[in-house]
Amino acid sequence: MAVSAVQLECDAFLVCMNHALSTEKEEVMGVCIGEMETNRIVHIHSVIILRRSDKRKDRVEISPEQLSAASTEAERLADTSGRPMRVVGWYHSHPHITVWPSHVDVRTQAMYQMMDQGFVGLIFSCFIEDKNTRTGRVLYTCFQSVQQPTQPSQKPSSSSSSSSEYERVEVPVHVVPRASISAVCLQSAVELPRILCHEEQDTYRRIHGLAHLDPVTKIHNGSVFTKNLCSQMSAVSGPLLQWLEDRLQHNHTEIQELRTERERLEEELRDL
Ligand code: ZN
Repeated sequence: MAVSAVQLECDAFLVCMNHALSTEKEEVMGVCIGEMETNRIVHIHSVIILRRSDKRKDRVEISPEQLSAASTEAERLADTSGRPMRVVGWYHSHPHITVWPSHVDVRTQAMYQMMDQGFVGLIFSCFIEDKNTRTGRVLYTCFQSVQQPTQPSQKPSSSSSSSSEYERVEVPVHVVPRASISAVCLQSAVELPRILCHEEQDTYRRIHGLAHLDPVTKIHNGSVFTKNLCSQMSAVSGPLLQWLEDRLQHNHTEIQELRTERERLEEELRDL
């Protein structure tokens, strides 16, 4: 039973985008939390950002421990929010490359679908420059994997060793507006700077612990660590704080408008 469409709530989409834009050097990833509706539509309410134990430029993997921790977290969120929630998919970024899933992505996706037919994969391609307009572009897609039909009547060239056993199918994805940000998404959004900081600390500690390094190298590593933290602050924490402040300002304005409206209605009621 394949998924017919995906509805991604706009605040969950925003968390994914923030995460994808946090680094152009490596791929980042996370888990999607939501529910599968009876009409085969997957509804994504929130995402959980995953910490990478091993940063690689072109590969991301979710460990079984992370997947099971995400399931536990989804159960906790279901309890607190009163909405049915479970792990329904995964997302990862493609910095500087096409939005389409790689052969590895398609195989990984197929593996997840063996556990859950409704599992979906989202990809965010970022840091791509449109050569004509010289502006940055962000693209996203949602996909599932299907087994390639093996027909003996096909021409021999199609059975080359490079062809994969699985192929991708695009799943239509709709970003759904929401009047307010959910508590769950807000938590994920503010979690991002912390996770990025922990990742930097892990890398620094691993290098700093090496006994054979001379003092100058250690000082250099310390400076790189500080520089990376500063870049994160300006690229992630700063804009996030600004976004929250804007949102707060917007909420204040809205509250004021609603108050005025209430007063007007109360006056009308008195006149009746
Ligand atoms: Zn990929």
